[in-house]
Amino acid sequence: MRAIGEEQLPKRVLVVAAVALVVAIFAAYVLRPETGAPAGAPTSDEMADALGAALMTHLKRGHVPGRSGELLTVPLPHRYFVGEWDLTTLGTSTPWLASSHPNPWSYTARVPIILYGPGYAPQGMEVTEATDIASLAPTYAGLLGLDGFEADGEPLEAILDQGSQEQKPPKVIFNFIMDGGGWNVLENYANAWPTIKALGAGGTTYMNATIGSAPSITGALHATFGTGSYPLEHGMPGNQLRGADGVPIDAWLQDADPRYLEIPTVSELWDEETDNEATVATVSYEGWHLGMIGHGAYRDGGDKDVAALWEAGENEWWINDDFYELPGALAETDLDRLESYEARLDERDGAVDGTWFDHTPEELKEETTRPGTPAFVKFTGDAIIDTMREYKIGSDDVTDLMWVEMKMPDFAGHLWNMSGPEVGDVLAATDAQLARIKKELDKTVGEGNYLIAISADHGQQPLPELNGGWRINTSEFERDVEARFGNVVEKVTTVDLFLDADALSSEGVDPADIASYIGTYTLGENIPDGAAGADLVPEGRRDEPLFAGAFTTEYLQSLTPETIASFGDGDYSEADFTVAGESGQ
Ligand SMILES: [Zn+2]
Repeated sequence: MRAIGEEQLPKRVLVVAAVALVVAIFAAYVLRPETGAPAGAPTSDEMADALGAALMTHLKRGHVPGRSGELLTVPLPHRYFVGEWDLTTLGTSTPWLASSHPNPWSYTARVPIILYGPGYAPQGMEVTEATDIASLAPTYAGLLGLDGFEADGEPLEAILDQGSQEQKPPKVIFNFIMDGGGWNVLENYANAWPTIKALGAGGTTYMNATIGSAPSITGALHATFGTGSYPLEHGMPGNQLRGADGVPIDAWLQDADPRYLEIPTVSELWDEETDNEATVATVSYEGWHLGMIGHGAYRDGGDKDVAALWEAGENEWWINDDFYELPGALAETDLDRLESYEARLDERDGAVDGTWFDHTPEELKEETTRPGTPAFVKFTGDAIIDTMREYKIGSDDVTDLMWVEMKMPDFAGHLWNMSGPEVGDVLAATDAQLARIKKELDKTVGEGNYLIAISADHGQQPLPELNGGWRINTSEFERDVEARFGNVVEKVTTVDLFLDADALSSEGVDPADIASYIGTYTLGENIPDGAAGADLVPEGRRDEPLFAGAFTTEYLQSLTPETIASFGDGDYSEADFTVAGESGQ
C-alpha cells in the first residue's frame, strides 16, 4: 500500500490544518506567560497609602530584615492563607474551618490588657488611651525599680502611679496570656469570661490596647510581652525565621532554643538583679511562648528558669533542660488525669450523647485535637497550680514573675473556627482556670501582694462567609507567582514569601514587581484550573483582589516616621485600632 502523500490530502483538510496553525500561533502569543508587574499595578507607595499610617507602623515594627520572608503579604480584611482547600465546601453547611490569623487588621490586633491587684492597679478604671502589649514589661521594670530597662513600649502610667504609693513591689506578677484571646473572640462569647470581667471591674482595663506590631503571629508577640520591644528589636519575626545559615527554620529550632531572641526580657534582668533569687516561670504550649520569660541559662549569668511545654506527639510535658528546668511535679505526665477530664467532656455541651459538640472521644484524643478542648485547659491549669506550689511562688519578698500561655482558645479556633461553639466552651474553661489561679494567689500570697495581668497575643479569623471574605489557596498562589516570575519562591508562609536570592538575580526579578503583582492578584486567579468545586465560585467575585498589598524588606526599611505619617488614615475601616468611649467589650 502506498503511503499517503501530501498531494493526496483533500483540499478541505489542508485549509483546516492551516487555520489550526494560525490559531495555535495566535494562542501561543496571547497565552504566552506574562512576566513582571502587570501594567497599571499599584506601587508600594500606593499600597502603603491605602493601608495608612497606623497599619504601616505595625508592619514596619513587625518585620525583621534578614529573618522575615523578603516579601510581606497583606491579605485584604477577612482574606487569609489556608493551604490547599476544598472548593466543594463552598455554600454548604460544612464550610472549610481551618484558618490562619496573621493579618494586621484591627480584629486580630485588638487585645485586652487588664491588670488586677489592689494596691497596684487602680480599681474600676477604664483607660481609653491607646497602648499595646509592649507596655507590660517596662511597667514591671518600673514597679520593681529595675533601672535602665530599655523597651519600645511606654509603661502604663496608671499602674506606676498607684504602685509607687506602695512601699514595696508585689510579691508576684502573674501574667495570664490567652493565645488567640483578642477582643473579637471575647466579644463573640460575652458570657464565657465572668472572671476576666470581674477582675476588670476590680482593676484597670485598657480598652484600646493592641499587639503593637504586625503580622499578628504567636511567636513574635510572646517575645514582645517578655521584652517590651517589638520584633524589629527583639528579633523574633514569627513562628519561623531565616536562620543563620540562610534556611527558613522554626524560630525556637523546635527545641525550645532561645538563641534567636536578641534582647533580654524584663524577667531575666530582674532575675539577674536579684542574683537569681527571683523565680521566673512559665507553663506554655510550645517554644514560641518562651519569649515571655527569656533565655534561661543560655544567657551569661542566667539560671535555668522554670518552664513546661507540651509535646503533643509524646503526650508529655517537656523542656530543653540545657537552658530551663521542668518542674519536678511534671516530670511524670499524669495522662490518666487528662483522660479522666476528657471522659467528662460529653456533658459540657448540653447533650449526653457520647460526643462533645459531635466530636467523638477518639477524635478528641488525637494529638492534633487534644490541646483544643476544655479537658486540656483544666489539665494545663493543674500544671500551673503544681508549678506555683512547687516553687512557692510569691512566698518571699523577692518578686516572682510567672507567665502562663493558655494555648487552647487558639488551638480550638484553628480547628473549628472562632465561630464554632467549641471555642466558647474552651474560653469558659480558660476563664475558670483564671479564677482558680486567683484563688491560689489569695490563699498563698494574699490579696494586696500580687498583680495579675490578663492579655492575648491576637484575635482570631472569623469565617469568611460572615464577612464577604475568602480563603487563599497558598499552593496555587505560589504556582501563580512562579509562573510569572520564575522559580524564585523558596517558601510561602501565612505571612510572607521567602525568596531565593540566586533565582531572583538569575531571573532578573525585582521583588518590588512581585509585590505590585500581588496587589493585582485576584480571587479568580487563585482558583486552580479544573479544581473540583470551581463551578461553585461566584462568577461575580472572580475579579475581586485578594490583597491590600505586599511589601519588600527594602521598602519597609526605607520608611521613616515622616513618610509613614504621610500615609494618613488609609482606606480601610479595619485599620482603625481604637474604639470610642465605653465599650470595647
Ligand atoms: Zn497565638
